[in-house]
Amino acid sequence: RFITLEGMDGAGKSSHIESIIATLKERGLEVVSTREPGGTQLGEKLRELLLHESMHAETETLLMFAARREHIATVIEPALASGAWVVSDRFTDASFAYQCGGRGVPREKVETLEAWVQQGLQPDMTLLFDVPVEVSVARLAAARAPDKFERESAEFFRRIRNGYLARATAQPQRFRLIDGNRPLDTVRQDVVDILQKFCA
Ligand code: C5P
Repeated sequence: RFITLEGMDGAGKSSHIESIIATLKERGLEVVSTREPGGTQLGEKLRELLLHESMHAETETLLMFAARREHIATVIEPALASGAWVVSDRFTDASFAYQCGGRGVPREKVETLEAWVQQGLQPDMTLLFDVPVEVSVARLAAARAPDKFERESAEFFRRIRNGYLARATAQPQRFRLIDGNRPLDTVRQDVVDILQKFCA
C-alpha cells in the first residue's frame, strides 16, 4: 500500500516519518521510505535545482513531474509490486498546493501531468499535517538554512494551505487531516492511531 505525507513547510510532517515507519515495521511489514522531490539519483539532482534555482513556474512543474515519473517507475511501482509498503514524504498533492496554489499554474495542466505520469496510481492514504499559516511562518523563521520555497511570504503559504485543504475536502476518503499545532507527542499518538486503524 502507498501512503503519502503532506503539509506546508513547518507543519511538522518530517518529525513523524520515523515513528510512521517504525509503526509499520512493528507490524511485520516491509517498508520503503522515500521523498519528493527526490527519491532517485536523478530526482535528487532535480531536487537541488528545484530548491535553489529560480525558474518559470511551469518549468518548475515539469521538473517536479519529471522527477516523479522516474520515482514512480524505478522506486514506487517496483516496491508496491514486491508487496512492500511505500511511505513518501510528499507526492502529487504538493504539486496542486505549491505549483497550482502557490505559483498559479492552471489546475488543468497539473491534472494532465498527473494523469500522464501516474497512469492511475494514487496513494491509498494521505496524512495532511495542517497548522495555521502564522505557525508555519514562525517555525520557518527559526529554521537555519531555508530553501527558496521556505523564504516565500505568508501570502504564498496561505495559498498552499488552501490548496491542500481543498484537495482534502475533494477526496475525504483518502485524506486524514492532522492538527500539527499541538504538542509533538500528542500529534505522534494521533499519527500512530491512524496507522494502526489503517492497517487493521
Ligand atoms: O518536504 P520538503 O521540505 O523536503 O520539500 C522541499 C521543498 O520543496 C519544500 O520547501 C516544498 O515546499 C517544496 N515543494 C514544492 N512543490 C512540490 C514539492 C515540494 O514546492 N511539489
